[in-house]
Amino acid sequence: MRKFNPILAVVIPCYNEELCIGSTINRLLEVLQVLIQKNKISDKSYLYIVDDGSADNTWGIVTEFHSVNPNVKGVKFIKNFGNQKALIAGYEGVREIGCDCAVSIDADLQQDEWSIEKFIEKFSEGAEIVSGIRNSRDTDSFLKKNFAVLFYKLMYVLGAKIPMNHSDFRLVSKRALDIMELYPEKHLFLRGFFNDVGLKTAYVNFDVKPRAAGESKFNFLKLMGLALNGITSFSVVPLRIISVLGFVMAVVSFLIGTETVIEKIFFHNASNGWATNIILLCFFGGIQICCLGIIGEYVGQVYKEVKSRPRYIKETELK
Ligand code: UDP
Ligand code: MG
Repeated sequence: MRKFNPILAVVIPCYNEELCIGSTINRLLEVLQVLIQKNKISDKSYLYIVDDGSADNTWGIVTEFHSVNPNVKGVKFIKNFGNQKALIAGYEGVREIGCDCAVSIDADLQQDEWSIEKFIEKFSEGAEIVSGIRNSRDTDSFLKKNFAVLFYKLMYVLGAKIPMNHSDFRLVSKRALDIMELYPEKHLFLRGFFNDVGLKTAYVNFDVKPRAAGESKFNFLKLMGLALNGITSFSVVPLRIISVLGFVMAVVSFLIGTETVIEKIFFHNASNGWATNIILLCFFGGIQICCLGIIGEYVGQVYKEVKSRPRYIKETELK
């Protein structure tokens, strides 16, 4: 049990969210106010908005809020680095400013902001990480819903057991943020990291709402990129599968080859086999290219890491 009122920092990544960021900030300030009145968090708690290189007036709105309420803080990137980098920047920013725990929540308030109270309760009971779990995926499109289910199942099979239906709505303690700094990888996959880190974790279920305003900033390609990054940064099982597949195919090819030679020498009845040849050629060719692609994903991951480019670059910060 923790016996103090923690300073809570709410991290909000946003990209072209001018249509909803104002109402989101107001609502989250209301949540903080209620929690302060209930004596659950410190009155030094604040919001930290990460503008992921928006081209609209998102940052203008954040700056206006900051000028009347210094508890609305934030940072703006010079260009769009993607939602994961925005979250990492948020966690690093609030760690630098100072907090006892941080909650990350989307700018469109699809996640239930009042669940933050339950997060804080779990934190007070000793959890270092509290993961929000969606009750349903009804607000997602058919494609996204099924893609997500497939991704979680695949991750599970590959050994990276991230909680099903957890997006990045979570509370993390200062200790978890300190440990995150020990992971220097540039393309850190946060869901994998917080699940893998070994700290005491609690779960809170919440209902998903439709987007407050505007459109989803995740297209299918961005989602695929996130999923591939998740797999390649937390599991090498696909590489092992390739090795095993190669071995099995070599054994099968050897057996088929031996059988063909025996037929030819002893029975002189090896068939012309044109169709068989073409089918085998295409089959093995396809599998080889597919395996090369998987290896290529890992090489790409190493390539990106080895260049060691910055995760993000700040343009301005409001502290
Ligand atoms: N986001 C971001 N950078 C991006 C894409 C999205 O910071 O490149 C933010 C976005 O503003 C939102 C959150 O990430 O606060 C989740 O995005 P969105 O709601 O568009 O995703 P969805 O809920 O449709 O998966
Ligand atoms: Mg959303």
